[in-house]
Amino acid sequence: MLTGVHVVFIGGDARQLEMFQKLAELDASVTLIGFDQLSNPYHGVQRQPLSPELLQSADALVLPAVGTDENGRVHAIFTSEELTLTEELVAALPKHAVVFTGMAKPYLSNLCGTHNIQLVELFERDDVAIYNSIPTAEGAIMMAIQHTDITLHGSETIVLGMGRTGFTMARSLLGLGANVRIGVRRDEHFARATEMGFKPFYVGELSTQVTNIDLLFNTIPTMIVTAQVIAQMPNRAVLIDLASKPGGIDFRFAEKRGIKAMLAPGLPGIVAPKTAGRILAHIISQLLSEITQKRGNEA
Ligand code: NAP
Repeated sequence: MLTGVHVVFIGGDARQLEMFQKLAELDASVTLIGFDQLSNPYHGVQRQPLSPELLQSADALVLPAVGTDENGRVHAIFTSEELTLTEELVAALPKHAVVFTGMAKPYLSNLCGTHNIQLVELFERDDVAIYNSIPTAEGAIMMAIQHTDITLHGSETIVLGMGRTGFTMARSLLGLGANVRIGVRRDEHFARATEMGFKPFYVGELSTQVTNIDLLFNTIPTMIVTAQVIAQMPNRAVLIDLASKPGGIDFRFAEKRGIKAMLAPGLPGIVAPKTAGRILAHIISQLLSEITQKRGNEA
């Protein structure tokens, strides 16, 4: 239970609804900022304007997936009000407070560092990345279905990268009956991919692997699908880039060749905000329980 723990939410999207409901269910005292357009009344939560006085009583601050932009602005879809996390606001947080976000830009990391406030970047955690790979793979499959005129079953498909997202992507495609080749760079990934029934290859051989593909899903966050690689692809190929911006595909050259290529960021929040919110709610409540328990033991 989170009795006596004050959690302040600033901005966000549908994922936040799951998070603050879960924390309120656990008896946290929840304050919302930037949710004035929400019509549903939520039990156990209150809304207040953003002020240093409010943050002085916060044990935790929950920010959206990308905490702030480079100027401190906080993305908030349930308000028309502009929300900015200023230095004055961060300085007002008690020293024991924890700031949660998906990923932090240097603006937020620097402010928390300067004021000695613990910052938790949830998307960096292995467990969150693995859970998030499920809605990501489902979203990528949805896009593939929308942008092709063939079934995934029987399609010639390449997944690049065998990390948390690539692994789930390849396994999901295999489950649908696609012929899945996976581009890796490590011998142990090559071995595991073979054991899993994917057809592995080393990414250095990418150019020779793409000559008959229908679909390619990239999860490698560096320029990997270069013009030289795209030049070897058939025109029917559809390329879906899951790696974070700017992705790993030469989009300019793909367009020039008339090959459909798209960057697909933030799929969990788009295709399954409820699930994505539950994943984050589960981890935040677990971390807050651990932190409060530890503090209780120390007191
Ligand atoms: P990850 O677990 O670190 O996996 C990345 C994979 O890329 C690893 O297998 C890594 O190989 C490989 N890799 C990195 N640089 C490489 C290179 N130069 N050559 C060959 N392979 C290379 O990361 P993840 O959690 O799967 O996330 C992958 C990307 O997807 C990230 O950019 C992440 O932000 C993004 N993402 C997007 C969405 C979305 O909705 N679009 C959702 C979740 C994540 P090693 O294992 O050998 O290092």
